[in-house]
Amino acid sequence: MNLSSNSIRHLLTTSDPVAIDDLFMEACRVRDSIYGRNIFMRGLIEISNHCRNNCLYCGISRSAKVRRYRLSPEQILQCCDIGSRLGFRTFVLQGGEDAWFTDDVLCKLIADIKHQHPDCAVTLSLGERGRDSFRRLREAGADRYLLRHETADADHYAYLHPSEMLFEHRMQCLHDLHELGFQVGAGFMVGSPGQTLETLKKDLKFIADFRPEMVGIGPFIPAAGTPFENERAGSVELTLRLLAIIRVMHPHVLLPATTALGTLHPTGRERAVMAGANVVMPNLSPQDTRALYSIYNNKLSTGSEAAESAADIRMRMKAIGMEVPDDRGDYLN
Ligand code: SAM
Repeated sequence: MNLSSNSIRHLLTTSDPVAIDDLFMEACRVRDSIYGRNIFMRGLIEISNHCRNNCLYCGISRSAKVRRYRLSPEQILQCCDIGSRLGFRTFVLQGGEDAWFTDDVLCKLIADIKHQHPDCAVTLSLGERGRDSFRRLREAGADRYLLRHETADADHYAYLHPSEMLFEHRMQCLHDLHELGFQVGAGFMVGSPGQTLETLKKDLKFIADFRPEMVGIGPFIPAAGTPFENERAGSVELTLRLLAIIRVMHPHVLLPATTALGTLHPTGRERAVMAGANVVMPNLSPQDTRALYSIYNNKLSTGSEAAESAADIRMRMKAIGMEVPDDRGDYLN
């Protein structure tokens, strides 16, 4: 499929349903030729909503008025035990930038998870850290790191973040992670305030050049109490088109059907799979903390977004012709 700059513009803006169907079919064909009809499940553990940053879009930023919590290493290990029994072979530890999770604490935690679940991958999504810290986490056994680049346009980045957060540092972190041997996840919100067709084209170019092993994209959803609380949510349709374009231009990528899509549309996850996604990330956090990890309004954490519903997810994926193997689901090179 031709993905020149002009055809990307056309695919992102056209109202021709045939062109969009063709794009989705091509994305599925490309995915299936590499990963087969497999959807990989990751157990998401939201380890802390403390954050030193003040991203203007985020409902758990430093200034947001939310009750703060932090899971203990013992609680996190319990989540992994539960997940392992449910068939999860990847644990994603995600949280705000919380100084309590020092390198020493995290290295011990990663080693304990790996010791208790040697067949599982550990993914971290804990924001920006120094190269030396990333190196220690990698040496402790972490396999993957998710750090969305948020936008590949420096001016747009500055519009979404306070001045102390630097675009160059985020990019440096992504390069460091790759060099240290992590499978790296980049990504961005669709419809974030100030986003244009031009900034989206820069995101696609960044993905084509950097070739992250994973790309997390989901619609922006306003979060109460943030400077962007009255902005419009991003479009589900545009998110699906971008998923499909990313699959076609970077065939081996691991592409999650994100919670934000499921939050905006009851069958958002299935639609993402039918546009080329091949990862789902249900919530493995303790029930009583899920509502506190409120990065945006009405975030789903129950129903099929909840890890206890692994059986439900398997059924829903089967209904659209997909299988969910008990498998780490590593990037295939
Ligand atoms: N602190 C880590 C980091 O910076 O990567 C991980 C946690 S952060 C909350 C995870 C992701 O949530 C961000 O990369 C951002 O893209 C997404 N996010 C935050 N606020 C959002 C919103 N209002 N709508 C949609 N996604 C949002």
